[in-house]
Amino acid sequence: MRVQALGCYGGEAYDCQLTSLLVDGKLLLDAGSVTTTLSLDTQATVDHVLISHIHLNHVAGLALLAENLLGVRSRPIEVWSIPPVINQLKTHLFNGILWPDFSVLPSPLRPIVSFHELLEGRPHQIGEYEVTAVGVHHTVEAAGYVISDGASSILYQGDSGPTTELWRLANRTAKLDALIVEASFPNRLGDHAVRTGHLTPELLRAELTKLRVQTSVYAQHMKPQYISEIVEELTALSDLPVSPLDQGKTYHFGTP
Ligand SMILES: [Zn+2]
Ligand SMILES: [Zn+2]
Repeated sequence: MRVQALGCYGGEAYDCQLTSLLVDGKLLLDAGSVTTTLSLDTQATVDHVLISHIHLNHVAGLALLAENLLGVRSRPIEVWSIPPVINQLKTHLFNGILWPDFSVLPSPLRPIVSFHELLEGRPHQIGEYEVTAVGVHHTVEAAGYVISDGASSILYQGDSGPTTELWRLANRTAKLDALIVEASFPNRLGDHAVRTGHLTPELLRAELTKLRVQTSVYAQHMKPQYISEIVEELTALSDLPVSPLDQGKTYHFGTP
């Protein structure tokens, strides 16, 4: 499984792109920066988008991607999430006010976007991937995912404070090649992180004690103003296999 870290930050700045990961050029995990990091031609090759939650830094690129695909793709781009998130995307983003409803444009029969609900805890086939969603702990409904291609599996946490079901899912996944987790704030802002449904490096350490499998852990979604502090604190977790996710890097998991 090839995973491109298009963007891996929780805020945007000149050199910080919002969270968006592209699996094998086809499956997008969140869509913060998809339109600012991919050419128009490459944007058109994305078939599926998994959205963790509706916060703007995860869906801004989805809105802009939909517009870019008008007149370009013959099939809709398939957008997947748990039912409350799909409902929020329809109600609050593609609502004809904040942004056009591309699920009925240019026509209801041939729309740009098609929405699909994923029931929690149950594997679903999305293209060539088996995807299982579970709810995580954030200020709005949010999901984490395990994505498997048969040969390899990764876990994508999305935004979440301390949680349980996601780690249970990790522990029952046969071969987990990587965890892509969040570390939004430095340790000194632990209270703020918990209140807003996020993690610090120390909170991440506690979360990883719930893990019963050995795998690599990549931290992302750092807020730009705290990057150097968070990276230093992640480095201090030297007893754990945690490293910051590198923006722009392509990772190969499971297969050579
Ligand atoms: Zn976020
Ligand atoms: Zn969020």
